[in-house]
Amino acid sequence: MSTYELYAVKYATMQDRRRRDNFLAADPHDDAPMPIDYFVWAAVSPERTVVIDTGFEAADAESRGRTLLRTVTDGLAAIGIEAGAVEDVIVTHLHYDHIGGHAQFPAARFHLQEREMRFATGPHMCAAAMNHAFTADHVSAMVHRVFEGRVAFHDGDRELAPGLTVHHVGGHTMGLQIVRVRTRRGWVVVASDASHFYENMEAVSPFPIVYNVGDMIRGYDRLKELAETPRHIVPGHDPLVLARYPAPSAGLEGIAVRLDVEPSAG
Ligand SMILES: [Zn+2]
Ligand SMILES: [Zn+2]
Repeated sequence: MSTYELYAVKYATMQDRRRRDNFLAADPHDDAPMPIDYFVWAAVSPERTVVIDTGFEAADAESRGRTLLRTVTDGLAAIGIEAGAVEDVIVTHLHYDHIGGHAQFPAARFHLQEREMRFATGPHMCAAAMNHAFTADHVSAMVHRVFEGRVAFHDGDRELAPGLTVHHVGGHTMGLQIVRVRTRRGWVVVASDASHFYENMEAVSPFPIVYNVGDMIRGYDRLKELAETPRHIVPGHDPLVLARYPAPSAGLEGIAVRLDVEPSAG
């Protein structure tokens, strides 16, 4: 069976963030620092390169108070991937920090759960509490991609290629999907926002941006079912990912890590 090299590439951060911002049931007075990082991921085999999510761009960084460290195009170039030539992008969900960089992938087909498009274009978006992590222009751009035949819709579990599968879990958004990648250390699961931090899944303590809390908690079990071991689950926004996995080369410390090799701790 095909195995992939698997990378996480950090493109942005928000240092001024507190524990109370990252847990639904947090003590509202808990103002201990808990920064959040922003990543895209890439699975690379001799046959194909698949990018997972597209990040966000400068306009969203500015309007939302995040620090864009590098464009996703530059981050991917650092590990030898030309964004403009990528043919397949898996979009875990349509929040601004996962779809905002879509224009950097002009040759790509976007793999999306049917339920996510329904969620992002339907009645739930009438409420600020549900729509605040979406950017309407990103969603409407994806509607244009649908009409161009550049969106591949999936409903539930789907094998995209040998050793590469997507799985609907919902919870955080209605149509959130996670990605399972066969690597030389076994099946690794890119959780994306099914678990922002290690602590969300390990303490069963959901992140506060959530469509369905019950499904989010069941998603933690789904991550464990699909991954070789709990050490094969990669949370979507945790700075510890860069601390636990090695950089592909010395020059890429703090920018990218290899997820297809064993983490150092945790
Ligand atoms: Zn999200
Ligand atoms: Zn996110």
